[in-house]
Amino acid sequence: MPLQNYINGKFVPAVSGETRPFHNPADNSTIGEAAESSAEDAQRAILAARKAFDEGPWPQTPAGARAEKLFKLADLIESRAEEFAAMDTRNNGKPLREARFDAADTAGCFRYYAGLATKPHGQTFEVGDPNIVCQTVREPVGVCGQIIPWNYPLLMAAWKLAPGLAAGNCCILKPSELTPLSASVLFELIDEVGFPPGAVQMVYGAGDPVGSHLAESPLVDKIAFTGGGTTGRKVMVAAASNFKKISLELGGKSPNIMFADTDPALALEFAMFGIFAGQGEVCSAGSRLLLERPLAAELLPRLAQACEKIVVGPGLEEDSEMGPLISRAHQKKVLDYIQAGCVEGAELLCGGGAYNDRRAAGNFVQPTVFINTRPEMQIVREEIFGPVLAVQIFDTEEEAIRLANDTEYGLAGAVFTRDGARAQRVIRRLRAGITWINTYHPTFNEAPWGGYKRSGIGIELGTYGYEAYTEVKQINTCLNPQSPGWFKGIG
Ligand code: NDP
Repeated sequence: MPLQNYINGKFVPAVSGETRPFHNPADNSTIGEAAESSAEDAQRAILAARKAFDEGPWPQTPAGARAEKLFKLADLIESRAEEFAAMDTRNNGKPLREARFDAADTAGCFRYYAGLATKPHGQTFEVGDPNIVCQTVREPVGVCGQIIPWNYPLLMAAWKLAPGLAAGNCCILKPSELTPLSASVLFELIDEVGFPPGAVQMVYGAGDPVGSHLAESPLVDKIAFTGGGTTGRKVMVAAASNFKKISLELGGKSPNIMFADTDPALALEFAMFGIFAGQGEVCSAGSRLLLERPLAAELLPRLAQACEKIVVGPGLEEDSEMGPLISRAHQKKVLDYIQAGCVEGAELLCGGGAYNDRRAAGNFVQPTVFINTRPEMQIVREEIFGPVLAVQIFDTEEEAIRLANDTEYGLAGAVFTRDGARAQRVIRRLRAGITWINTYHPTFNEAPWGGYKRSGIGIELGTYGYEAYTEVKQINTCLNPQSPGWFKGIG
């Protein structure tokens, strides 16, 4: 049976009855169908969420009771983690070992926000009037539209739903039309836990009309979006119609800076891990490798050899280290970028194409490294979102910082060096929100995640991510009510 929407506590087909097939990117075979919703389906979810928020009981449910449901959901996800991992691998393409990590992280995310729901969130303020107690409380924002991409189908759902529900909001999830599979089982578990109707819903379908309807609707209070900048801009414009609260997690072109004193073996591993984890379809990928000249001389020949050895294959095969890209269209986009890099005069150190063997049926792209790049090249400036690394060489710390920041993006970045003071100096001058010293990629539910510059607006995860799903209300209580004596003619 085609995957169904989850609206007002029930699994339902699209109003039109239409469905859309989805595929396994390892061979482009059709692996299922999902409801192809319209604005009308989105509107039904919005109306149910509006009622659930305005009339309750979810926003009024005590934090401890909300937490209990989220803890239970986390346990259920954990108990089916292997199944979730297999689903994301089949539908997204990423190797099983990565999808397993995502499943574990998803359970951890629900658990973290379940715990946070019951922690103190208000404050009291010392104000100038001794008769006033001034306090703040945090309240849910309301109805939240949550639009997620295809690169982390399950985990992105958790990043959105967990803080939203923990804070008492009514959430409507819009998965990517390319990766609907794991969300269907997530909502089976949500149904099993038993949230009030309308508190948590999902609508499948295309970005336009489903996502765009959520972004435009005056009945939606907040939009949280992860995806590309072009779509992010449309969402922001639509959300401006009723001044929705908005969070945008967009892309990056993140620098991975390595000084000459870095252990070459460590440099090699993290240069590769930074870009080739998740086939490079990772917003925070270290897609620019900035090498101090003496390290480049030693590292690059080894990098070329090591990339040839990466096991590129279907994610479901346990020994696969890198999977296919999400779609034929995306594979073409990435190959076009590689072509553009060659035309602009960059030199291929390794990779540079697709495969002619059994992998030709899927959307595989070779691990690709460009050297002899210039800062103005497209492959250095634009987010490719694939396994394509651009190497840049520097001679001084100042030059490293200048090259690193010479980008419109500001999502992530890393510095590798044994000089602790230099690591701090450089990382603090990096105009980016998520940074690492002597490592790349570790991400924690407990710590804030968000970009500078055109990498986005707002912060997810950690306490910041919870606060982003709340409004702050100021409450002033008078301890000694008396006439203010303002209008002389009364009283
Ligand atoms: P999009 O940004 O278009 O997709 C992200 C989500 O937005 C999907 O759920 C999509 O739905 C939805 N969407 C699409 N159009 C609209 C709209 N008009 N209003 C509201 N929601 C909409 O990603 P793409 O798949 O097109 O990828 C394009 C580029 O974006 C990639 O090449 C990559 O550079 C970047 N990207 C960045 C990601 C990140 O994590 N920062 C993640 C994914 C992509 P649907 O899938 O159904 O169209």
